[in-house]
Amino acid sequence: MSGLQFAHAQSSPCARLRAQVESLSAGRCRLLAVSKLQSAEAIRALHAEGQRAFGENYVQEALTKQALLADLADLEWHLIGPLQSNKARLAAARFDWIHSVDRLRLLPALSAGAQDRARALNVLIQVNVDDEASKHGVLPAAVDDLADAIMHTPHLRLRGLMAIPDPARDPAAAFARMAGLQRTLAERLEGIDSLSMGMSADFPAAIAAGATWVRIGTALFGKRG
Ligand SMILES: *Cc1c(COP(=O)(O)O)cnc(C)c1O
Repeated sequence: MSGLQFAHAQSSPCARLRAQVESLSAGRCRLLAVSKLQSAEAIRALHAEGQRAFGENYVQEALTKQALLADLADLEWHLIGPLQSNKARLAAARFDWIHSVDRLRLLPALSAGAQDRARALNVLIQVNVDDEASKHGVLPAAVDDLADAIMHTPHLRLRGLMAIPDPARDPAAAFARMAGLQRTLAERLEGIDSLSMGMSADFPAAIAAGATWVRIGTALFGKRG
């Protein structure tokens, strides 16, 4: 079957989206299933369809689901929500990736948590790409300093950047700016291979710009709550 062929119509949303992401990205982008406010059983159902990477926003909610899903050894957990300092060590110990690292202060606790689990923690720097005063993330001009600090922190493995562009502005332009920042970082540092951007409403544009993770909730599970 051609790689461009989408899964047929009666397949599940997950199978369709995975095929679409695979096809649009020529295999360079993965689907992160955003399971915040979804049940452990909903995650289990997607796991049965082959989905392995799940994104959660809240540490405590994720820990509850991890306990209910402890029999599934190959789940990959990504924290995509804002990270509170007092949860950083626990998060580092219980997640495989953290997409929302946005300040130096977090690094000692993340390092300690990664050491607790005796594995390197995959880290993305969240970038405030639209320069909004109220949002999380570092400004583009501050990426280099945070990146250098992460590179010098034991047990952390810097993989790239993450952004949540303002949907009211021009997400495609924001995605292009992110791709530029990513290229600059990858030229300077080893191991930079990931770019997390794009959600249900805009993931094709993110993939076109070079996303390696699209974070999709609504289009996968339906509306939350
Ligand atoms: C909720 C959330 C998503 C998923 O958004 P959808 O529009 O439901 O696909 C992606 N990224 C982050 C950071 C989120 O909080």
